[in-house]
Amino acid sequence: MKIDRVKMPVQEPNIRNCNFNEVALGLDLQLAKIEASRCLDCKNPRCVKECPVNIDIPAFIKSIKEENIEEAYFTIYKSNILPSICGRVCPQEKQCEGACILGIKSEPVSIGALERFVGDYAITNNLKIEECIIENNIKVAIVGSGPAGIACAVSLRRLGYTVDIYEALHEFGGVLQYGIPEFRLPKSIVSTEINKAKTMGVNFFKNIIIGKSITINQLLNEYNYKSIFLGNGAGLPKSLGLKGENLTGIYFANEFLTRVNLMKANQFPEAPTPVRIGQNVAIVGGGNVAMDAARTAKRLGAKNVFVLYRRDMNALPARLEEVHHAIEEEIDFRLLLNPVEFIGENYQVKQVKCEIMELGEKDASGRRRPMPTNKFKTFDIDSCVISIGQSPNPIIKKATPNLEVDNRGRVIVNDYQTSIPGVFAGGDVVTGAATVILAMGAGKDAAIQMDKYIQTNKD
Ligand SMILES: Cc1cc2nc3c(=O)[nH]c(=O)nc-3n(C[C@H](O)[C@H](O)[C@H](O)COP(=O)(O)OP(=O)(O)OC[C@H]3O[C@@H](n4cnc5c(N)ncnc54)[C@H](O)[C@@H]3O)c2cc1C
Repeated sequence: MKIDRVKMPVQEPNIRNCNFNEVALGLDLQLAKIEASRCLDCKNPRCVKECPVNIDIPAFIKSIKEENIEEAYFTIYKSNILPSICGRVCPQEKQCEGACILGIKSEPVSIGALERFVGDYAITNNLKIEECIIENNIKVAIVGSGPAGIACAVSLRRLGYTVDIYEALHEFGGVLQYGIPEFRLPKSIVSTEINKAKTMGVNFFKNIIIGKSITINQLLNEYNYKSIFLGNGAGLPKSLGLKGENLTGIYFANEFLTRVNLMKANQFPEAPTPVRIGQNVAIVGGGNVAMDAARTAKRLGAKNVFVLYRRDMNALPARLEEVHHAIEEEIDFRLLLNPVEFIGENYQVKQVKCEIMELGEKDASGRRRPMPTNKFKTFDIDSCVISIGQSPNPIIKKATPNLEVDNRGRVIVNDYQTSIPGVFAGGDVVTGAATVILAMGAGKDAAIQMDKYIQTNKD
């Protein structure tokens, strides 16, 4: 008998767009078992190959079917210590679920929802895994506590290394903490998941900017780290380079989201950092960051929030679920529009002028290229959030001249090895803005290379 894909319960759109509580409410055991029963347990599971950290997906789903959730958790934990996070934010439709055989004729198994269910079960039931770590007393340093840094740290710790993570901000987790909003990824979940690394003995140091407080050279030569992993992400926003872009009321998504997620601007004046957006808010961009900015603006009380995107709906790079949720929350999508100028009065932005685009031939990304038409439209706005991408912050490069980077500031690596012996890199700092699970996969793989390097270069 064909069983339909289970739908995850969510908060009603007109209720949730006024609060910051989590939108998707998760599956209970009964729903999880129904969804798990849809898995075909393929002999040659394509989902595992498409998972950047190669979780044994059929095995953990089988354990859910058998109601052995602890076993399911242990299976996932071997490959990924952050299941409650990845279950919530991975673009599953492009990875594991995209490869699910069931998806050819109907809907794929909801692997992400099941992963989240198992991760949340482990948190609620305080499941702990004692790992037997044999200390080797060799010190390694990790720069950045985002998913790449955490995954690398955990893999190295399991091999017995003394692992120190250095984080520039006052909270750990990278984008998971300061970028992805509470209504998609509760910060209590981020902290609980990261605490697992602390329990394993990974040391965390905050408020230390590598490249300013301590240099890479010092880490290697004065602090005696045998190897370093750069997982410092891509936190530098790209600008549109337009006239009027420095008017008051124009934010970069990073700043806007950090003010809300990390500095709790939504709780102003109880929290000290405000964010002023007004009633009409334009969001420029079509990725996950743009969706998060739009939905956050709505929750801060803006009446009209519209996304300006230069291609069409099919080309939006954001996760399908986020687009779907944004539409339900009455975010307006104004497509085939490219901002060309911001117009202000008394230094405050008042309007955004956009060129109307049309779609031409396919470009290198496989999507139809937006072409200018020399026709324009102008919209009244009180604020605008620019979300068109990020590149790595140049602080480390500036303090480390022999670190090779490309013309976009991304660290150049060969098998995760940078141009400096013993210094490795992975995640967004190498690829540019990508995904949580790709960053984790890079962190894990880089750890293997770091171990090889250290073992080969032992005194
Ligand atoms: C708003 C937003 C929403 C997103 N949504 C999704 C999503 O739904 N799904 C998904 O898969 N991906 C999403 N992404 C992308 C994903 O979060 C990133 O690809 C991922 O976090 C990259 O991990 P990372 O560890 O390489 O870098 P980061 O997460 O950026 O972590 C880098 C860390 O290094 C620290 N750091 C930087 N410089 C220094 C320094 N000099 N010294 C010390 N520490 C330093 C930073 O403070 C930060 O904590 C989103 C990104 C954003 C911005």
